Amino acid sequence: MSKVLIIGAGGVGNVVVKKCAMHPEIFSEIVLASRTLSKCEQIAKEVGGNRVQVAQVDADDAKQVADLIRKHKPDLLINVALPYQDLPIMDACLETRTNYLDTANYEPKDEAKFEYSWQWAYQERFKEAGIMALLGCGFDPGVTGVFTARAAKHFFDEIHYLDIVDCNAGDHGKAFATNFNPEINIREITQKGRYWEDGKWVETEPLSINRMVNYPEVGPRKSFLLYHEELESLTKNFPTLKKARFWMTFSDEYITHLRVLENVGMTRIDPVRYEGIDIIPLQFLKAVLPEPSSLGENYEGKTSIGCHIRGIKDGKERYYYIYNNCDHAATYKEVGAQAVSYTTGVPAMVGAMMMLTGKWKGEGVFNVEDMNPDPFLEALAENGLPWHEKVDEFIEFND
Ligand code: NDP
Repeated sequence: MSKVLIIGAGGVGNVVVKKCAMHPEIFSEIVLASRTLSKCEQIAKEVGGNRVQVAQVDADDAKQVADLIRKHKPDLLINVALPYQDLPIMDACLETRTNYLDTANYEPKDEAKFEYSWQWAYQERFKEAGIMALLGCGFDPGVTGVFTARAAKHFFDEIHYLDIVDCNAGDHGKAFATNFNPEINIREITQKGRYWEDGKWVETEPLSINRMVNYPEVGPRKSFLLYHEELESLTKNFPTLKKARFWMTFSDEYITHLRVLENVGMTRIDPVRYEGIDIIPLQFLKAVLPEPSSLGENYEGKTSIGCHIRGIKDGKERYYYIYNNCDHAATYKEVGAQAVSYTTGVPAMVGAMMMLTGKWKGEGVFNVEDMNPDPFLEALAENGLPWHEKVDEFIEFND
């Protein structure tokens, strides 16, 4: 019996709240707080039965978050607002000695750069306060780290090559929309790519490398090399890795829109003077694009996210592939959300479940691969995200 405070009432927040509400034996009390109170009220209404209390908060302000925590005294805070709020929310958790979980690592508003250093810097303070922070517990980052931990624990003596592949083969019927927060999504995609090779990072021009990748039940899709945050923690936690890359699919239509928006300056994150006020073009663009939470209806097709891993077991080479496929229409039917929100929100709920039941515990700041993958993956499959694995069967990467 635990109380959870969820911050962020967007696409992912909607899923986390509804999935927590399905487990009253663990999440006996749920509080949802966000910048816009009406969005919290709408989600609470959809859950019904007075299961969810709501509150308004500006999570850029650590004091407001700390006051909210003092009022509700949660056992755990789940942060599914934006990466900008990670540090003020962690500060509030420290001040009130509250456990913390998020799905995306911190990035400063004025620079499109994300890395764990800012949050790892809380390690000693969280440890001294006797509380736990679990970072990046969505799908990627999140499940991809747990998949890698499972491979290392059960299938390899050493893992050498990791290729994380993320495909959204769904169609929402809109000319251009992003599946999670547009501002964060476009910042991520328009920055330089990066992969790990022989102990160092190799930088690439944005979206300059692509290849066809086969996805189960989907088929071949053009996949682009990106830098993604779990590469930072996985290469640190699995030092035998010789190469680690991240690939994501984008349609030609999506890439064309993105290039036009970039070329006309709409993805800029520096202020532009417009009729006497400063506006950030990317923030304005976000305001005119569809909200991720609105994309669910009529969304068809599947996501397919997984890890291709090569390494050594008992002196022999081994190829291991583990993945989940998730259907947009099915998740919409279940919780009124498209599959990208669902595949993020379910692992966040499962991570919270692990922490609140003591299956994952610790004092300090952790990434998911620091924890035992087995109970997490069991609960993940039971809660809507079944996964599959193939050993020496499905060989996609050999470079
Ligand atoms: P949305 O934009 O749909 O939702 C974000 C929510 O946070 C909105 O309700 C927003 O409020 C709220 N918010 C923003 N700023 C503040 C603030 N200062 N104080 C309080 N609330 C605030 O995004 P998503 O739900 O798609 O994404 C949520 C998080 O999940 C992001 O951090 C994203 O990066 C992460 N993510 C992680 C993935 C993974 O696999 N690990 C995959 C996809 C997403 P308002 O409604 O007023 O704008």
